[in-house]
Amino acid sequence: MRVAVTGGGGFLGSFLCEALLRRGDAVVCLDNFSTGRPENIAHLWEFPAFEFVHADVSVAADVPGPVDAVAHLASPASPPDYLRLPLQTLAVGSRGTENALELARRDNARFLLASTSEVYGDPLVHPQDEDYWGNVNPIGPRSVYDEAKRYAEAVSLAYRRSLGVDVGIVRIFNTYGPRMRPHDGRVVTSFISQALGGEPLTVHGDGKQTRSFCYVSDLVRGLIAMLDSSESGPFNLGNPEEWTVSDLAQLVLEITGSHSEIQYHPLPTDDPVRRRPVITRAQEHLGWSPEVRVADGVRRTVEWFSHSTRELDLSGFPN
Ligand code: NAD
Ligand code: UDP
Repeated sequence: MRVAVTGGGGFLGSFLCEALLRRGDAVVCLDNFSTGRPENIAHLWEFPAFEFVHADVSVAADVPGPVDAVAHLASPASPPDYLRLPLQTLAVGSRGTENALELARRDNARFLLASTSEVYGDPLVHPQDEDYWGNVNPIGPRSVYDEAKRYAEAVSLAYRRSLGVDVGIVRIFNTYGPRMRPHDGRVVTSFISQALGGEPLTVHGDGKQTRSFCYVSDLVRGLIAMLDSSESGPFNLGNPEEWTVSDLAQLVLEITGSHSEIQYHPLPTDDPVRRRPVITRAQEHLGWSPEVRVADGVRRTVEWFSHSTRELDLSGFPN
């Protein structure tokens, strides 16, 4: 296959590009590096089947030559990023998704939308399955991301229903691993870089809020299973292992051997209280399940972060 990956210079996108190249696909990566980094894809230039197009996909997602699939991952994903880039986040979720859908329509290609557990907002139902419609504040600060992704799902399914585009949607729950930016503001990266730097771990609220954390290699297997299928979804992709933020802080302290203290900060507006995916549909329709326990994944991520401060070796898939 020849696959266009928007947002391929980001955390998840760069692992997706790499996994596709390693199995023999050709990859065209489109990115504007608004939250990604050229270093994430530096090691991919050794693959002759790797191409890069510097593009803001909210303006255009043009790829010379036909593609068999489009994986649309372009979007800020970390709360501090999308709060810093509110209009760009709305633009890439709306116009960016439309441009990526047009690319798929042009070539009669499979289209994969990287949606998010944020479509469930601060959920009133726990755990969350795909039939739950969500509880999103449409005018709160997080709405620039949540509503952009909800629109992205709506427009993708409209392209499927009215124009016959082969659309598949996955809702990704918190995913972590090597290659994340140490200061991207997400909880796993924040705690690891704080613990390694001997700084206090910044717990928001009382730390009793929960998230379910998935390791990147598991998630990328799920993305590829969805890309290869003709399922429309939406399917939750995430690891149902649910952790409180406080317990995650303790885990990071144990793994790093750090003596950093815990510092409590105000809970951001509309911060969801609980998150855990029901993954039965992905298991049944894609034969997908996560395999990496959180303690193992965090250990691997800590290892990578400790090394990457000494030498920036970004190559290798984190199996
Ligand atoms: P990331 O910020 O590392 O990657 C996003 C990439 O998209 C970056 O390389 C960025 O430069 C690029 N991008 C953003 N706007 C663009 C534009 N207009 N044109 C071209 N490129 C653009 O984030 P990530 O964690 O790798 O997330 C990737 C996708 O997965 C996002 O769509 C995100 O919403 C979704 N997702 C991620 C998670 C997670 O936990 N990592 C959870 C749910 C959903
Ligand atoms: N969080 C925290 N300290 C940090 C960063 C995040 O306590 O330094 C909290 C955040 O408020 C949320 C949880 O950790 O309750 C997960 O945050 P993240 O930004 O990783 O993901 P999201 O809120 O998008 O699920």
